Amino acid sequence: MAENTALRSFTEITGSTAADLAAKIASGDLSSVEVTQAHLDRIAEVDGDLGAFLHVGADQAVAAARAVDEARARGEQPASALAGVPLALKDVFTTTDAPTTCGSKILEGWTAPYDATVTAKLRAAGIPILGKTNMDEFAMGSSTENSAYGVTRNPWAPDRTPGGSGGGSAAALASYEAPLAIGTDTGGSIRQPASLTATVGVRPTYGAVSRYGLVACASSLDQGGPCARTVLDTALLHEVIAGHDPRDSTSLDAAVPDVVAAARAGAAGDLSGVRVGLVKEFGAEGTEAGVQASFEKAVQQLRDLGAEVVEVSLPTLQYALAAYYLILPSEVSSNLARFDAMRYGLRTGDDGTHSAEEVMALTREAGFGPEVKRRIMIGTYALSSGYYDAYYGSAQKVRTLLAADFAKAYEQVDVIVSPTTPTTAFTLGEKVGDPLAMYLFDLFTLPTNLAGHCGMSVPSGLSADDGLPVGLQILAPAQADDRLYKVGAAYEAARGPVA
Ligand code: GLN
Repeated sequence: MAENTALRSFTEITGSTAADLAAKIASGDLSSVEVTQAHLDRIAEVDGDLGAFLHVGADQAVAAARAVDEARARGEQPASALAGVPLALKDVFTTTDAPTTCGSKILEGWTAPYDATVTAKLRAAGIPILGKTNMDEFAMGSSTENSAYGVTRNPWAPDRTPGGSGGGSAAALASYEAPLAIGTDTGGSIRQPASLTATVGVRPTYGAVSRYGLVACASSLDQGGPCARTVLDTALLHEVIAGHDPRDSTSLDAAVPDVVAAARAGAAGDLSGVRVGLVKEFGAEGTEAGVQASFEKAVQQLRDLGAEVVEVSLPTLQYALAAYYLILPSEVSSNLARFDAMRYGLRTGDDGTHSAEEVMALTREAGFGPEVKRRIMIGTYALSSGYYDAYYGSAQKVRTLLAADFAKAYEQVDVIVSPTTPTTAFTLGEKVGDPLAMYLFDLFTLPTNLAGHCGMSVPSGLSADDGLPVGLQILAPAQADDRLYKVGAAYEAARGPVA
């Protein structure tokens, strides 16, 4: 069994759920300054070993906490159900009071002139931002090893990855540095790290959370979402960050499903009438025995809660990974063209001896890491004339067929479940030299993104193989995010403590 090392120890405050902390702050049992300071102290204690944060904004966090306490002293109603509870923000959302690097050298030293909508909503909700968390460069990767600023370790086993690209946010939660965090999920970067660290992560429906000020990786796939240690905390945070934003042209203009009510209803533990799908094509081969056993136990628990379990088929699934790795790089090659040495961050070779074009090339050569360069090259190739139809065009067709497969499946079931990842956390360094092995790790998560749907990873205990966390993935169609929370909360209550 994995040891509960110093990276997994906590105090009364840092071990609490966000919901409990919010209630205590609202009642005056705790101040937001106390709660925020306890988490800043925890960061100071462990983050040197862990590497979850790229930037800690202690003064700003305490100032935001003080504002919450002062509003309460004046007799004002809390700004939100999470007012005063601090949070760790993935370093891909812009903030006017802290650098935004996206884990890349090319943005070193850059501070954005505006707050992302997510950042602004957090501030308006009275949620102090502790700092910005580490990530794979521009959210490309599955282990946080593609950050230009060093690796993040998994609090459950420091020689292992916490997953990626949002490994920093997940590690901050699992080490009790923060009770809440924000991630982004383009192909799994919220769910996969949640799975490897025994935390909860939700990728909301595409368009549910504004992308304004979320530095783009692949615009048609990117989606910000909530991360925490319980399903209810995730729901409370979902409620804060979701909603229509006229500044994002792909933002959904529809009511946000009542995810908090769904989480509370689910916790009552009755899933009768809920139809749960198992995907035939996901199969069990390629999935580690301990992960498969944990998954099968979870499915039995869903049955015990009253759910009806049926098999569904997604015939196009076998092409999903290939389609994703054409669509994503194509969008990356276009989105990352904005890093031209003129507008943001790094500039290399600007010494009077080079042309503007050479400065651009030298800057991109020096500023981007190998995985980002690989994807820019693949994407540029896939979009080039003569290849466009064969690669990008075919991938888009697969995407349409996959969405049709899902639509058919969701006629038969309300949610689909699978393991979140095929294995538990792998060792740092194990896959970083083998891009294909790294890509294959996202097999279960990325189909959701191609379809624009929502998904959750909720801890399903520890693997009997190695004592490391395993995640249960729950998927639902677009704008049915409440189903994730209902099923997730019911399962969480039935599961009991992870360790
Ligand atoms: N690991 C996947 C990739 O590298 C997903 C990344 C993400 O969701 N941001 O593309």
